[in-house]
Amino acid sequence: MEDDAMIGDDEAWAAVKRRDRAFDGRFVTGVLSTGIYCRPSCAARHPLRDNVRFFASGIDARAAGLRACKRCLPDDVARDEAAVLAAIDEIRSAEEVPTLEELGAIVGYSPAHFQRVFKRATGLSPAAYARALREERVRDALGESKSVTGAIYEAGYSSASQFYEQTKGRLGMTASDWRDGGRGRTIHWSVVETGLGEMLVAATDKGVCCLSFGEDEADLRARFPKAQLVEGGADFETLLAQVVKAVETPGADSSKIPLDVKGTAFQQKVWEALREIPPGETRSYGELAAALGNPNASRAVGGANGANNIAVLIPCHRVVQADGSLGGYAYGPEIKAELLRRERKE
Ligand SMILES: [Zn+2]
Repeated sequence: MEDDAMIGDDEAWAAVKRRDRAFDGRFVTGVLSTGIYCRPSCAARHPLRDNVRFFASGIDARAAGLRACKRCLPDDVARDEAAVLAAIDEIRSAEEVPTLEELGAIVGYSPAHFQRVFKRATGLSPAAYARALREERVRDALGESKSVTGAIYEAGYSSASQFYEQTKGRLGMTASDWRDGGRGRTIHWSVVETGLGEMLVAATDKGVCCLSFGEDEADLRARFPKAQLVEGGADFETLLAQVVKAVETPGADSSKIPLDVKGTAFQQKVWEALREIPPGETRSYGELAAALGNPNASRAVGGANGANNIAVLIPCHRVVQADGSLGGYAYGPEIKAELLRRERKE
């Protein structure tokens, strides 16, 4: 890559292999065999290394006779970034959480397209981002405030019961425990490189309490602010090896890996049902709700799915749209697509 001495070809190829969104906009991947160029994070199947040439920008790639990939729209990176930043400003400053339609209108994208763009950039949907922001504000306020209820109101929740409903399970602890931020509990953790990118695994003495992608110690600290965080550890390494194996070998039996979840009885029921979906198969929210004996509960099932702290081992990636399309995923559609592709052994 002649024009960008900062990124060597090896580094660029490594970024492409792990579909690293952080490199989007810094170079494009030209595929000489197909005549297209992509963002580093493009979800399409990876080309052969021999067919790849890196360019500093889409302009250079077009000058070499290539055309933009219709799937990852590499020329829209700058516009996407501006739109996501504008939406984040709006979410942070608005009194009421703006709807997807409102955000789309502000940034000039269709709601469905903007949902994908926002998720690709942040790993979260705008709604999940707004929820995470409110939780962050609750935690900040709890640090100072004497009263849990006061802290909840300061964070913009309309009532205490809504807070308990929305945060139970998602935070891995009940709200009353949360006031003490996990004090007295020890959490071992590690970030490991996998075929799906960097994976954070954390566990208490009872089992895995968090599995996520693209997160680090700071994110774990935010979830458990007063727990003792210990990187590595002999017992933990044994558990970690099992987890990595289960993640890298989809379809492997992961049912023996202990999980330390906390959620409402309903959420736990949903998570159990998710674990019963065989690898390689998918369900819609409606089908899952019907399997739980309440076909009208698909929204609540969706909420429980979103509250899951332990990706892959509680396979929320096996829930897709009723029409068979991929649907959302907390860590971005690329990882979801890759997990499903592996499970189907494509
Ligand atoms: Zn592409």
